[in-house]
Amino acid sequence: MKDARALLSLDEALARLVAGAWPCAIADVETVSTFDALGRVLAADVNSALDVPPADNTSMDGYALRAADVAAAGTLLQVAQRIPAGHVGQPLLPGTAARIFTGGQVPQGADAVVMQEECEALAGEGLGSVRVNAVPAAGQWIRRRGEDVRQGSAVLLRGQRLTPQGLGLAASVGAATLSVLRRPRAALFSTGDELQMPGEPLRPGAIYNSNRYTLRALLQAAGCVVTDLGIVPDRLEATRAALREAAAHNDLIVTSGGVSVGEEDHLKPAARAEGELDDWQVAMKPGKPLAFGRIRRSGDGAALLIGLPGNPVSSFITHLLAVSTVLRALQGMDPALPPSLPLRADFDWPRPDRRREFLRARLNAEGGLELFPNQSSGVLTSAVWADGLIDNPPGQAIARGDTVRFLPLAALVSR
Ligand code: AMP
Ligand code: MG
Repeated sequence: MKDARALLSLDEALARLVAGAWPCAIADVETVSTFDALGRVLAADVNSALDVPPADNTSMDGYALRAADVAAAGTLLQVAQRIPAGHVGQPLLPGTAARIFTGGQVPQGADAVVMQEECEALAGEGLGSVRVNAVPAAGQWIRRRGEDVRQGSAVLLRGQRLTPQGLGLAASVGAATLSVLRRPRAALFSTGDELQMPGEPLRPGAIYNSNRYTLRALLQAAGCVVTDLGIVPDRLEATRAALREAAAHNDLIVTSGGVSVGEEDHLKPAARAEGELDDWQVAMKPGKPLAFGRIRRSGDGAALLIGLPGNPVSSFITHLLAVSTVLRALQGMDPALPPSLPLRADFDWPRPDRRREFLRARLNAEGGLELFPNQSSGVLTSAVWADGLIDNPPGQAIARGDTVRFLPLAALVSR
């Protein structure tokens, strides 16, 4: 049967997903130790109550002094004090220097540091003296108070996902705990009577369930608490029961397979019976069929449903583009796709599809892109070989040397 429905552009589909997700946005907030906050999404800005660094300090081992006291190379200065990191010295008297070590607070009155390689320590009374063999510029080797963070400024913003360096920045302003959103709860199931789990011998006609592993890992990488409902048989009642169970305790239900128009495709009728459903044909390749709906909860509200196509590359790519966008919208994050990079094609693609294509490609050592030879939506090898997707506009042929748009997989998987 020919499908007469108009194709929806991917941008339009993503806009509708975002609009559908916002009313269900997660509002519950948790306070967690900054140690445990990796990958969590901030529920509030992190504002700094202090300047970082809190005081001027030296970025070199050497001598703190007044630049005006060293008019010429070879000037001798009395060493009046010693300031290791973590210590505060005395105000610097004119004509003296302070021996100082990286991170040590620059004493009041000093306006430059001369690195020890440009000085000669001379023994003498007390701490001796120093011959300064280079004329310093005022301000040199001093890290200024507040040059990293100004007191009162926001160092991290609500809706930002916490990276390792973000945790470090939060700690640098003294945040021992952080206010984060509760993790999204996502349920996952695969449909398909041909599916078997690894660990069982493969019976005739069967294939191993790979989507369960890919999609579960993608949801986990996005910070979800995943309820994995396994494989649901290709029957309406079983699919309805799985949707009900999934909706009860989850924000989002992700399924794979069963969204085509074949008579063994039960996801859409099941979703209609348990809630409401938009049945889309998206103008993208791979991954044309996409179902988006809401499944009623017995108590209140609804869980969002995204039905992904069954082909392993299609479900992988539609997850990266569509499910991730919904998860970001649910968490008040910017739902836009990461920026694509303009890069040179080192291949020809003479017969493009009429739909927007996401081609599996890899960067070569010359800074160009190569294409995996088999772009079929069932060839999962392509998604492992690739380090990104070429976002190719509808009907756009590519010739060697053309500039194409490249979306790194790393940016998509961790977004
Ligand atoms: P469907 O969307 O259910 O028509 O499935 C499309 C294709 O993807 C069929 O060849 C299925 O066998 C395959 N497929 C569906 N689900 C999975 C899965 N979980 N793992 C691997 N392949 C699958
Ligand atoms: Mg199927």
